[in-house]
Amino acid sequence: MLHTRARRRRLFVALAASALVAAVPSGVLSAAASTVPTAVHFETDATDDTTGMTPSWARGEEIAPSALVDDTVDISTLEGAPEASELAEQQEQFDLPTAGLTTSAHTVEVAVIATAGSNGSTSYVNDAGVRAIVDGAETYWKSQSNGQITAVDITVSIKRYVSTTACGQQLEAWQEAAGKFGRPDAVDYVNTPALHLLVLAPVSCGGGGRGTVGTNHSGTSTVNGGVMWVSYQDPESLGSRATAADALAQNVGVVAHEMGHNLGLQHSNAHLCPVDITEGLYDPSTDSYSNGCSDEEYGDGYDVMSGVAANAGALNVTQKQRLGVLATGEMQQLSLAAGKASSATTTTLVSTGQTSGRRAIAATDPLTGKVYYIDYRGGGGQDAKALYATGFYENLNRGVRLLSLGNADESLVFRSPTLSGTSGRHLYVTTGQSLTSQSGGVKVTVKSIASGVATVTVTLSTLAPGVSEVVPRLDGADRFEASASISRASFTPGVATAYVAGGLNFPDALSGAPVAAQSGSPILLVAPGSVPASIATELDRLNPGRIVVLGGASSVSEAVQTHLATYTTGGVTRLAGADRFAASADISAKNFESGVPVVYVTNGLNFPDALAGAPVAAKDGAPILLVTPGSVPDSIATELDRLNPGRIVVLGGVNSVSESVQAALKVFTAGTVTRLAGADRFAASADISEKNFAANAAVVYVTNGLNFPDALSGASVAGRDGAPILLVTPGSIPASIATELKRLNPAKIVILGGVNSVSSAVQNELALYTRDY
Ligand SMILES: [Zn+2]
Repeated sequence: MLHTRARRRRLFVALAASALVAAVPSGVLSAAASTVPTAVHFETDATDDTTGMTPSWARGEEIAPSALVDDTVDISTLEGAPEASELAEQQEQFDLPTAGLTTSAHTVEVAVIATAGSNGSTSYVNDAGVRAIVDGAETYWKSQSNGQITAVDITVSIKRYVSTTACGQQLEAWQEAAGKFGRPDAVDYVNTPALHLLVLAPVSCGGGGRGTVGTNHSGTSTVNGGVMWVSYQDPESLGSRATAADALAQNVGVVAHEMGHNLGLQHSNAHLCPVDITEGLYDPSTDSYSNGCSDEEYGDGYDVMSGVAANAGALNVTQKQRLGVLATGEMQQLSLAAGKASSATTTTLVSTGQTSGRRAIAATDPLTGKVYYIDYRGGGGQDAKALYATGFYENLNRGVRLLSLGNADESLVFRSPTLSGTSGRHLYVTTGQSLTSQSGGVKVTVKSIASGVATVTVTLSTLAPGVSEVVPRLDGADRFEASASISRASFTPGVATAYVAGGLNFPDALSGAPVAAQSGSPILLVAPGSVPASIATELDRLNPGRIVVLGGASSVSEAVQTHLATYTTGGVTRLAGADRFAASADISAKNFESGVPVVYVTNGLNFPDALAGAPVAAKDGAPILLVTPGSVPDSIATELDRLNPGRIVVLGGVNSVSESVQAALKVFTAGTVTRLAGADRFAASADISEKNFAANAAVVYVTNGLNFPDALSGASVAGRDGAPILLVTPGSIPASIATELKRLNPAKIVILGGVNSVSSAVQNELALYTRDY
């Protein structure tokens, strides 16, 4: 297709300064002309036989909005505008009743001028032609304001005269025209609700327009008035193939654009970054973005407030949001519920060009609080003839877009980071593709596009990009759901045995962890008197060969034991004792032979040491037995006698298991009694890990060291995987744990528990300790 590419003609958007110089006879350029305006103007000089597109201009290889000069005019520069010191007084004087207005009928006073230096004729457009342009703008803004603008009408006679102003002298042209309509100053249009002045200048001014932005009273409102200056375009000025209809569409688009400025809208720009980057962070001190990103004024070629005026597309979701013209239900608001790490919402959007139905999403980034907007440009409705929908561009096409508001309330659309290349804009994604905010907090993925609608999934996450892959989280709404979640992620249906323990206390589950781990079995938590729904569902899924209850009837009642029989055909048995110590002795007695190489002993009155020790015991095929800080209970002494272990390891410091208990334990073994401990529970878990697990671990489990429920079901999983459990606080990684994580250099870290147990900030930080992040 190279030959057709070579023959394809360039499309010029708008008026570059050089084009203006060429268009205006030399000698009449005023100083102001070099700053002239916008122009939303296409130009082509030849035919294009590569497409059957409408309109009839050449297909564009690339738009070049960077060639455009800013067309916005600050209202303070208008004749009659108040000095800053007089602003308050003036605002009082023009105390506009805009706040309560929900609809407004706009009027436009139109002056058709012959500029100084032109041929002196104002017959380049007749009154019917002027009315057709204003009618077009009316149709546009009635639909795009959702009916808040009820009319845009010419109610007084169109004035025609030879102006004293040249093409570039918009401020003077407005002041002159205001006088023709009997108004003292151009600023009166800004100060009167829903009143506009349109100065139409001849084709020889080179296209484009200028407009004031907002009013002193209402920055952005469908009730605002203002002044517009537009260089009329005829078919000849647009290119040899342009028709009268094309020229009308162009003039309507420019007037609609300038009227958008009057209403208070800024431009619709594109945010462009290097390949693989979606967004940069804005730094106000340097007025620039990180990551090599920058904004391209006018760059969102889908929107009327961009550099593309012809056949104006629907107003962007960002611009609609600023104007307040989206009805309830037309934009879905998404934010992450408190206490949740992530959420995924699937929504179907109709195309932005439609005038009803859900066609926008506002998603709040849970990491930054910034709001992102999502829309679907699918053609149809207002977009039916929009250039992007006609195949006019190579890079702008139908698809789902991610947008935000910039620092000056301009609209920003993001470029697809994977499809950007060096020149292509690709301001959209399509089925199977995603766009993600800079922080990673908002991600939109297109599930499907069909029959004029796009189905998207918006994922809100408090995690940085890629973190959830290397630091996944197993959690649930409560300890029971967390338990079910850990089991679901770790065990396949048909397990030989499922262990069930009381979820309100820790000793039984932790005593059982080595046993469950050895046989590759889950431990599920229940309430003393009931099986929570989440656990019932998980037991149904697991379909265990048999069920073993850990602990006495005060932890898991007889009624629950009876009910558990419905989840297995293999019966339900119980390992228990008169208390937690006796229960741990019973669990050991039923599962370990006399002469075990090692026994782990820990404090039965607190959980951290047993939690960290459970995977080690599992790895060694060793029981965990519980003692008090000051004594060895009789039931434990009896079991130690029976076990006759090769050695004994105490888990935890002297506050958990005293020196005297450690000494007393010597009578139960011919080997040593050693201790794994640290200055605190965190250091103890680090020490237990360091003495038992090799570096370059496949996986490490991390849980809250200040609370136990999240990890109870995880201990058996960690044990099965030969993985350590390390303890952290909800908001930080203790220094001892950081050191151990560095040594372990794991591929993956699994968090046991929700964001209230281990925060998203800690999750992000943990990713830095994984070897491939
Ligand atoms: Zn503009």
